[in-house]
Amino acid sequence: MNLSLIYGTLLDNHNFERFLEMTLDKGLLIVLSGPSGVGKGTVRKAVFDNPDTDFKYSISMTTREKREGEVDGVDYFFKSHEEFEALIEQDKFIEYAEYVGNYYGTPVDFVRETLEKGHDVFLEIEVEGAKQVRDKFPEALFIFLAPPSIAHLKDRLIGRGTDSQEVINYRIQEAKRELELMNLYDYVVINDSVDEACRKIHSIVEASHLRRSRVERTLRKLLLEADN
Ligand code: ADP
Ligand code: 5GP
Repeated sequence: MNLSLIYGTLLDNHNFERFLEMTLDKGLLIVLSGPSGVGKGTVRKAVFDNPDTDFKYSISMTTREKREGEVDGVDYFFKSHEEFEALIEQDKFIEYAEYVGNYYGTPVDFVRETLEKGHDVFLEIEVEGAKQVRDKFPEALFIFLAPPSIAHLKDRLIGRGTDSQEVINYRIQEAKRELELMNLYDYVVINDSVDEACRKIHSIVEASHLRRSRVERTLRKLLLEADN
């Protein structure tokens, strides 16, 4: 029997093997994104504080100033503009974006190597970067973190206390545009409670591991057994 037929495609067996190798045994690339101030950083920290979380966090590179309490190589890899631009030239990023005057980017080597080893990798990035990842890794899992309302978003930006009124107004304007990008994502999680948002993210990841395309090898073994 040509097993590829069960997938509803006409892949020959050689290509089919390659298809299996491409999709199986690799970790899942998980992308959490959403408007500024929605709580991405807060939810990400809570996800990684949970001892049950076994994804690897991809530490981004940025040119922004280190904030109090941040550690180089833990929160970000802090780079100068020149260093960052040299890395862009060397094609060292899966994605990068300029955000409020600074560069932010996801280093490609860590993500590739970690996925190859079979670990899930978690990115927490803004929406322009997520769009770029979608072009390069369409098989990744895209989760959009949405605010319960624009009023909540505004309150959170004010409450965080890191931005001037002018920047907050700009971010709210941008958020409207960013919310329209929601339809590029696989799942939407409303961040009304941080604990609930974390629980939902874990459920989504668990379900994504059970996608048929990811359990093909098990399915194939079952069919071979049934044939014998
Ligand atoms: P982002 O990383 O998306 O820009 P932050 O994680 O910095 O957002 O969160 C923005 C502000 O909102 C912070 O002050 C944070 O404490 C607060 N916040 C995040 N999630 C919630 C939530 N579920 N309920 C109330 N406040 C929240
Ligand atoms: P902050 O300066 O508050 O740490 O982050 C600002 C924004 O940059 C947040 O929305 C955060 O999710 C995003 N960000 C962090 N790392 C990356 C990255 O590697 N790439 C992109 N595109 N955005 C990032």
